[in-house]
Amino acid sequence: MHILVCGGAGYVGSHAVSVLAEQGHRITVLDNLSTGHREAVRWGRLVDADLMAPTTLDRAFEDPVDAVMHFCARSLVAESLAQPYAYYQNNVAGTLHLLEAMQRHGVERIVFSSTAAVFGHPQAMLIDEAHPKAPINPYGASKWMVEEILRHAAQARGLRSVALRYFNAAGAAPERGIGESHSPETHLIPNVLRSALGTGPRLKVFGHDYPTPDGTCVRDYVHVLDLADAHVLALDLMEREPGAHAFNLGNGTGFSVLQVIETARRVTGRGISFDRAPRRAGDPAYLVASSEKARDVLGWSPRHSALETIIDSAWRWHLAPAF
Ligand code: UDP
Repeated sequence: MHILVCGGAGYVGSHAVSVLAEQGHRITVLDNLSTGHREAVRWGRLVDADLMAPTTLDRAFEDPVDAVMHFCARSLVAESLAQPYAYYQNNVAGTLHLLEAMQRHGVERIVFSSTAAVFGHPQAMLIDEAHPKAPINPYGASKWMVEEILRHAAQARGLRSVALRYFNAAGAAPERGIGESHSPETHLIPNVLRSALGTGPRLKVFGHDYPTPDGTCVRDYVHVLDLADAHVLALDLMEREPGAHAFNLGNGTGFSVLQVIETARRVTGRGISFDRAPRRAGDPAYLVASSEKARDVLGWSPRHSALETIIDSAWRWHLAPAF
């Protein structure tokens, strides 16, 4: 198939592209390179276009497209609280421009990057797809709005879609020359590893009084290559089943911030010290996915799910980052 990967120069997008290429799909990457990296576009051609400039999008469809994967988004919770207009513009209006371009070019399949942030404060130990959607920040709300748009588009015009709600995407594929590189970096595992290497600021652990076993937040870390696999499986599902689908993607196991640091000490063999800092605004205590539906319906089975494997791959990337 010829897949148009919007945001394919970014972290999750570039890993998905590598897996699509491995499986023999033809790829066009559409990216405005605002947060992505030209060096991460190692497979397929790059169309430098912007979802906020709708007329630039047609170039990406010149070669007929079978399906779109849509990773473009602003994705920082704290930034979304400070800049709500920018988040709704990029994530909602930008996606509408993409959906309209798809309509102009007769493309009827899309895999959409969604997030655990659509759920807001968790009301269960394991969050399944039926959990109430009550986002508590513009980032989560913008993703939920797009999920609703996709459902309405399925009803109105038969658009086929799969929304994949990532829990904590982590890890890298250093052997493929790609990994995680954000600026500024806000995510835990890269911050821990930069601190181990001495290339980042001193590590801060946000919050020690959460109602969790060691008082720090618990998250469900899932390898970015496993997320990539789910995107490929979503293509198959859209062939079989019409409608708008949604899946939660995680390992079903939670690790606290302190457990992540301890695992990173073991994997890297380096001492990693940190400062205790106050809670970060908007962080729920405990966020762990039930991915039963993804396993049953998509046939998804994470292959790199052990926290050691995730951190080891990220560490090897951080030792020799290509960008
Ligand atoms: N965290 C931390 N120090 C950091 C970065 C993150 O203590 O430098 C904590 C953060 O407060 C949260 C967890 O690590 O409890 C995971 O944060 P991350 O930003 O990686 O992902 P999120 O769950 O916010 O999507």
